[in-house]
Amino acid sequence: MEQQEHIQKLADEYYEEGRARFFDHKLEEAAMLVQNALHLYKKCDDMLKYATALNMLGVIYGATGNETMAVDYLVEGLECAIDYQLNNITALFYNNIGSRYQELGEHEKAIDYFLKSARELQNPTCIKEERYRSWTLITYLNLAVSYYELNLYELSYKYLEQAERQLDEEVEEMYHYTVLIFKCRLLWQMEKGDYVYEHMEDLLASGEKDSNASDYLSDMKDLCQLFRDMKEYEYWKQTISAVETYTIDQNTVFFRLFLTELWMDYYQTVGNEERYVELCVAHADLYKRQKAIDVKDRATAIDIKVQLREKEAERKRVETMSVTDALTGLGNRYSLEREAVHIIRDAGGERITVGVLDIDCFKQLNDTYGHIQGDRCLKVVADILKEAVMDCGHVYRFGGDEFVMLFPAGMENRIEGIAEAILQKIAEAGIANEHSVVQPNLTISQGYACFVPEGTESGARLIEHADKALYYVKRNSRNAYYIIRE
Ligand code: GH3
Ligand code: MG
Repeated sequence: MEQQEHIQKLADEYYEEGRARFFDHKLEEAAMLVQNALHLYKKCDDMLKYATALNMLGVIYGATGNETMAVDYLVEGLECAIDYQLNNITALFYNNIGSRYQELGEHEKAIDYFLKSARELQNPTCIKEERYRSWTLITYLNLAVSYYELNLYELSYKYLEQAERQLDEEVEEMYHYTVLIFKCRLLWQMEKGDYVYEHMEDLLASGEKDSNASDYLSDMKDLCQLFRDMKEYEYWKQTISAVETYTIDQNTVFFRLFLTELWMDYYQTVGNEERYVELCVAHADLYKRQKAIDVKDRATAIDIKVQLREKEAERKRVETMSVTDALTGLGNRYSLEREAVHIIRDAGGERITVGVLDIDCFKQLNDTYGHIQGDRCLKVVADILKEAVMDCGHVYRFGGDEFVMLFPAGMENRIEGIAEAILQKIAEAGIANEHSVVQPNLTISQGYACFVPEGTESGARLIEHADKALYYVKRNSRNAYYIIRE
């Protein structure tokens, strides 16, 4: 327990540190830290935090431009949120998956996801919590952006207003520029330039003041576009310079590529051919390098996935190998198969015995008294069977209301006594089953077969011999046994 808490605490520390680095634009360090947190959360089964970390990784990789990694993490997170019914955070995943589509220019699909997110956020538990304010703001803003891209400006404006309504002091600081830049672009398209001209200085300041790491680059790209549309070349140039200063300590291929593209666009537009060509050459080189990095990241992502799959397969294997039936404590099908091998091997040409037992009219019992009572009866029956067999053989719950018995060679002459004892004990238990077609008490049918095993058959195949006997009992009277001697 103590160790569990220790792991949890460590994971929280990694996560918080990663988040802090992210807002500090140190994306690679952020990704590494959050990945550490992710593994630890999984280890201590904290699925909510695990999903939150997956989301964070999706956002971080989105900001580095690694779309495939981003989508992988987000889709895994969404699956996790749905599987574990982490309803509150489902909205977050819908929103962020929508953002990925938005990034790819698939705005109709993006809108579907944003609307799903908005719907989840209407949920009363979401509305109450403070942090959902920023999620709500982002979702509405995203809707505004996608409708803008589809040239549906009125709709876009409607969602922008909804987004602005979420701006309070805390959220304001993070989203002020993102909202402002978008609003100016929209109003410019709607031919309401006055608002834009009034905010020119504030727009320019965003180059160094926009503190929202995840949106900074796209904000800057949008702002450059706006200044280009407005033919405000001096503002445009100053903005790119600010981005250059601001991202200089990043110095990753991705950032340099981004910056080169901003300058290319600028010099081409202002007609500086020479500078433009120089930048094109630099761009080709950077592009090649970025591609190599993406491929490597992708390979790492595949490695991680394969490892996760293998672990999952191992977990499943261990689960199916567990040998007891959870309800009755008897052996399950798997243990039947395992022990059948021994019994067949040890038979040495002699006859072994297999029994198949099935409760009569168990459906009626369930229907009359409910499944909980049904479960109780299964336990009582299991105990009776175990006691009757003692150390002569083994009892398994084969599934539902069906039980299987295996007796090694040499037990044939004990079977009749065991079958009789079972009938008697079940009768003594006096479990009500008033709608049974046999009698108003619970009864059981038993079929046995004594035969020489071939030596290679499976446990399931052994049962076929006894099934014939059980069928005979079920057809005739039920509440009885029948033994076939082959
Ligand atoms: P029959 O006399 O021909 O055997 O009739 P039956 O009603 O017993 O029919 P059958 O054996 O086909 O139905 C078994 C029923 O057992 C169906 C299912 O609802 C119920 N059942 C299966 N597993 C469980 C369980 O784990 N708990 C409970 N309570 N009921 C179960
Ligand atoms: Mg039955």
